[in-house]
Amino acid sequence: MHNTILQIAIDTPLDTTFDYRYLASTENVEQPQIGQFVRVPFGKREVAGLIVGVNKTSDVDPEKIREVIEVRHQITALSSHWMQLCEFAAEYYQRPFGEVALPAVPKALREGKVASIERALKKISGPTKSKNEEANEKTKTADTANTSETAHLATHTLNEQQQHAVDSIAATTDYACHLLFGITGSGKTQVYLQAAKALLEKTNASGQRAQILILVPEINLTPQLENQVCASFPRLNVVSMHSQLSEGERLRNWLAAHEGRADIVLGTRLAVLSSLPHLKLIIVDEEHDASYKQQEGLRYSARDLAIWRARQLAIPVVLGSATPSIESWQHAETGRYKRLALTQRAAAQATVPRVGLIDMERDKAVEGLCPSLLAALRERLARGEQSLLFLNRRGYAPVMHCDACGWISNCRRCTAFMVLHKPERRLRCHHCSLELRVPQSCPTCGNVDIQPLGRGTQRVEEHLHTLFPEARILRIDADSTRRKGSAQEAFDSVHRGDVDILLGTQMVAKGHDFQRLTLVGVINPDTALFSQDYRASERLFAQLMQVAGRAGRAASDVGSVSEVLVQTRYPQHPLYRALMNQDYTGFAASVLEERHSAGLPPFVFQALLRAEAKTLDKALEFLTTAKTLLAHEGIVINDPVPMTITRVAGVERAQLLLESSSRAVLQAFLKPWMQALRESKSRLRWSLEVDPVDI
Ligand code: ADP
Ligand code: ZN
Ligand code: ZN
Repeated sequence: MHNTILQIAIDTPLDTTFDYRYLASTENVEQPQIGQFVRVPFGKREVAGLIVGVNKTSDVDPEKIREVIEVRHQITALSSHWMQLCEFAAEYYQRPFGEVALPAVPKALREGKVASIERALKKISGPTKSKNEEANEKTKTADTANTSETAHLATHTLNEQQQHAVDSIAATTDYACHLLFGITGSGKTQVYLQAAKALLEKTNASGQRAQILILVPEINLTPQLENQVCASFPRLNVVSMHSQLSEGERLRNWLAAHEGRADIVLGTRLAVLSSLPHLKLIIVDEEHDASYKQQEGLRYSARDLAIWRARQLAIPVVLGSATPSIESWQHAETGRYKRLALTQRAAAQATVPRVGLIDMERDKAVEGLCPSLLAALRERLARGEQSLLFLNRRGYAPVMHCDACGWISNCRRCTAFMVLHKPERRLRCHHCSLELRVPQSCPTCGNVDIQPLGRGTQRVEEHLHTLFPEARILRIDADSTRRKGSAQEAFDSVHRGDVDILLGTQMVAKGHDFQRLTLVGVINPDTALFSQDYRASERLFAQLMQVAGRAGRAASDVGSVSEVLVQTRYPQHPLYRALMNQDYTGFAASVLEERHSAGLPPFVFQALLRAEAKTLDKALEFLTTAKTLLAHEGIVINDPVPMTITRVAGVERAQLLLESSSRAVLQAFLKPWMQALRESKSRLRWSLEVDPVDI
């Protein structure tokens, strides 16, 4: 029997690893390795850990070293590449390694009973495989090349631009970041699939195995793409990874990726941290999308980690978008990323829709809808074509008020209004979820005539029913799709043609390829023009280009020209001018110029410290102290300020913004600063975000 000291990472806020003793016995003959999971005693609990070091000795008092309960030899050790990825994420986003690495693997693997993991492992080679996996199994074993005949892409002939993009990606033999800048409907998906095919064939020809990671922003877009990927690669094992999977599915898919049995992993942001020993290509679809940013815990950007991972492995990464993020665009401008442009719609009959602005000062809206938009809707109804109305505000009305005394439906726990949800007769706070019955009369003066102010999707829906009683109207927003699977059902009915007018929030703006849609109406986008958030206009532009992109994808049997109509009070605004000309390039150039002169990202690097307390003073006081904790050369630390929505659920929130023209200088400061903050043992809740997006 000999003594081994295992250095273990545990999912805990303590930024350190822990030494445990491992005793080899007759049952424990295998040597533990870095990257293996263990069960260890931790305080009074038993927890999962990850081996990060195997040593002979320890600096810890031998009396205090406890013994490992179990090493999970059944699971192949995680690779050093994977461990380095987590180390990088931990360092860069200023989180303990254990809080990054352990939550990145399925809970069942860390905490489940060994028997259940063995069952899951057995299942992979057992009878419950996907269709693709079964076919795949017949032609290869886990260690040989994927298969000689990888793809089944009997689809379109690529156009010249698509072919050029595929060739550039496939020719890459080292790290390279390709920005696939293709207008909506330009056939980016086809480029992803063909590039994947070319890469698989190239890798297989050299006798190696390949895995491909495809990241998508939204879970509700995954089935469409998943079907396409499966159909294109019938012999390959395609698995998905997103937060809606059951624990069992997640475990099974994670292990398939980890064991190298999954050829293609399709997933949302969390998939970027999956273990992929043969990774050869990463694709990030809709790279500008905000959902690539995790907004709690480890606040990482999956897109940025994907790029880091590609560089680490010396493989290509493809970022696809019609409206790239300003950061990515800037990198393409300076040549750090390789730009590949698709400037035309791919399908033969498809045309780019015409964008028109409706001047709301002249064309007065009734119930939020201008006469010229209504006329356009009527035309579509008469021709049996579909229309989409986009209003990024759910509920019936954003606020209720009393004309007599000025009462307004403030949330008593938040700096926010309570939103009227008429079908349920409720006032609901979208920040803290507080719900009240709609009052019969004004709570302050008793006036019975309290009114909804402004409009959300429910109110527009109600009005549309009175205007077009014959039309089939469908609303899609977070409220109408609460039930699992209901969003998919709703979209299916649009695809089937069972809907004349589709009305929705940003949920309808993305990805969907609606074949019979020839009109898009945008209601009330102006508020974002005057937001305090400097990114609001970038987001609005991307969103409007996206939603505009839903029109004009029509197949040949739909006759009319597609149209996008935007209702605005500011038809001269440069953002709308750029939208009319579908001019992303011009818009991006003006945004970059503004950001440059205002000293904003991507020209400076930021970090944001947030604090929460019972009183605003306490939160501000904590941040004021934090500001003066360490010397900070080359970094500007602004004054602490209350957050825009200061109070949520009775908690006051404030923030402190750090800026530097050098990422390295900022990073070098953050580590000791975090250390000092942890040691200050403040009882406030605080958190740090590196590269914050909402400030
Ligand atoms: P994007 O992702 O760029 O918005 P898609 O990949 O969804 O565009 O493609 C839009 C449509 O064009 C799809 O219906 C697709 O099948 C079709 N398409 C793609 N490439 C071609 C091509 N080379 N020839 C004809 N149609 C194509
Ligand atoms: Zn009143
Ligand atoms: Zn509230």
